[in-house]
Amino acid sequence: MSRIYAFANQKGGVGKTTTVINLSAYLASAGLRVLVIDVDPQTNATTSLGINHRKLAQSIYDVIVSEVPLAEHTRQVKPNLPLHIIPSSPALSGAEIELVDLHGRETRLRAALRPVRDQYDYIFIDCPPSLGLLTVNALSAAHGVIVPVQCEYLALEGLSQLMTTINLVRRSLNPGLDVRGLLMTMYDSRTNLSQQVVDEVRKHFGRLVFQVVVPRNVRLSEAPSYGQTILTYAPKSPGGLAYQALAMELIAGDNTKREADPQSISGSNETDPEPKVEGV
Ligand code: ADP
Ligand code: MG
Repeated sequence: MSRIYAFANQKGGVGKTTTVINLSAYLASAGLRVLVIDVDPQTNATTSLGINHRKLAQSIYDVIVSEVPLAEHTRQVKPNLPLHIIPSSPALSGAEIELVDLHGRETRLRAALRPVRDQYDYIFIDCPPSLGLLTVNALSAAHGVIVPVQCEYLALEGLSQLMTTINLVRRSLNPGLDVRGLLMTMYDSRTNLSQQVVDEVRKHFGRLVFQVVVPRNVRLSEAPSYGQTILTYAPKSPGGLAYQALAMELIAGDNTKREADPQSISGSNETDPEPKVEGV
């Protein structure tokens, strides 16, 4: 049974793409079958995984807008690693508008995933920095949302808007949608501010915040320019160790959920309390 997670935060530059590509690399290296779906027209996940979108005839755009079967656009990132991607392309920037008049505009990605989702253990959807129809498609298709939050001043700003969108999607399109976790990123141990932000987010969101905190580490920003993930570029760096630990935390939590509540996997945990965001 696959777990489908949307990585969403309408703020740009908070670590969505960095988390998607590195976490997926660690999970795939553990033998898990992982599919990354890049739904950001900026194509960062696609290029970071070493794929040149200019050389591609088709992309996730054709899947969402023209209903081309998703399996036709799935590519293996590297031989011998069970990591696949459905690339994005700049054409996707027009999709937000084109989708408005199309039938099932909020659920096209979910429909496209249905025939293939059982072929993967994890499906990660890298969202654009907005709460438009592409992000709504990702939220409609997912079991859970993972929200990267940068350890910076005003980190909580915007989160209540994201939670409102998640609650709307849960009510109208995807009752099983869960907030899987908030991930604190770019933690700088030299400043008090980083720790204050982590404390504040934990105070508001409690156990929804992952134990692992990703440090600010230049290796993480260098790796994509070599077409590598941190797993091969600098696995012993603080960033590498953090994403390795996050992969273990994610798997452990998902296994507990499977044992504790198989219903939540099949997507019907309507009685889950909604996250408290008042006053955020
Ligand atoms: P998003 O997808 O949310 O827009 P990215 O993952 O692309 O954010 O990250 C924004 C920038 O910050 C990128 O240049 C990335 O390499 C860099 N970055 C992300 N996480 C870290 C980190 N933990 N330490 C240092 N740089 C990071
Ligand atoms: Mg991104």
